[in-house]
Amino acid sequence: MNHPISVAIDGPSGAGKSTIARAAAERFGLIYVDTGAIYRTVACAVHRAGASCTDGAAVEALLPGIRIEMTYDDAGAQRMLLGGEDVSDAIRAHENSRRASQVSALPAVRAFLLEMQRSLAREHSVIMDGRDIGTVVLPDATVKIFLTASPQRRAERRWKELREKGADTALEQVLRDIEQRDYADSHRETAPLRQAEDAVLIDTSDLTLEQSIDAVCAEIARHLRTGGAE
Ligand code: C5P
Repeated sequence: MNHPISVAIDGPSGAGKSTIARAAAERFGLIYVDTGAIYRTVACAVHRAGASCTDGAAVEALLPGIRIEMTYDDAGAQRMLLGGEDVSDAIRAHENSRRASQVSALPAVRAFLLEMQRSLAREHSVIMDGRDIGTVVLPDATVKIFLTASPQRRAERRWKELREKGADTALEQVLRDIEQRDYADSHRETAPLRQAEDAVLIDTSDLTLEQSIDAVCAEIARHLRTGGAE
């Protein structure tokens, strides 16, 4: 491949980024990179080391010893390894979401992960989802999409997912957590969640999953065909 292409998908939690990005990756033959999983893995490492994810100095001191690897299983799903241990399921725990949001507000953590994410996009054609992909990580991404949905819709989707996994969390609690994370992610000083000026906004509140996938894929196809000039 001469020039790898890159698709940046940013947006708040629960907008459907990962499911949609995974489907689009398959359609266009791109490697899907879930950057939230990388922040979640850092949070997991910090917690396991007995430090608080809000303690900037303690987290910074731990960073050089944190060994994170990303691999893909036979089905093409991204797996996260921490010190060689597969933590892909552990990082999804509800409590770890809050910790990931806390740890991701620390500039040292963002700097630590920046090169890892950029080098993936230099070497492969990727679709990368996160909060700052179009604004900071890949400002020259081929396609930028900002995917959102109302907080209520996002909470309902997350709550269903949690219930399917057997977690007993009230919908109101999930909504409160989502609103708190939205606030924290959009108000932090370093790389806050915001739509890049050249990103296309797609609101999935009233779309089914299939319709959302089609909307994102149509946008990607349009850019690949016209360079976004249409
Ligand atoms: O996407 P996910 O919910 O798994 O991300 C977990 C947390 O990691 C988010 O709440 C956000 O604070 C942080 N994150 C980030 N930048 C990214 C991806 C995730 O700050 N590119």
